[in-house]
Amino acid sequence: MSNRRPFTAAEKRAIAEKCDGRCVDCGSDAGPLDHDHARPVWGGGETSVANGVLRCRDCHAAKTAREATARAKADRIRKRLAGRRVGNHQARNRRARRRACAIELPF
Ligand SMILES: [Zn+2]
Repeated sequence: MSNRRPFTAAEKRAIAEKCDGRCVDCGSDAGPLDHDHARPVWGGGETSVANGVLRCRDCHAAKTAREATARAKADRIRKRLAGRRVGNHQARNRRARRRACAIELPF
């Protein structure tokens, strides 16, 4: 169900160029810088140059912590919908994805 995949080397280069080699949050260019999803995969974000950003380790960890509540809510919605015996799997998964994507993210 997850569409998570790593960024390709070409995507990483394009993301680094787009972000001018700096963390999008604090502007630091001191490595290591992670290639991160601006909108997280669990929240419907794609693995693409458009959704990719550079983040230093500290800002990446801070973002993950800020997302925890929204992510837990998305997980609860997915679980609830998965347990419902209505419609077929694909319709249910689509609905769960839509609901998860509609959650307001704290950034
Ligand atoms: Zn940073």
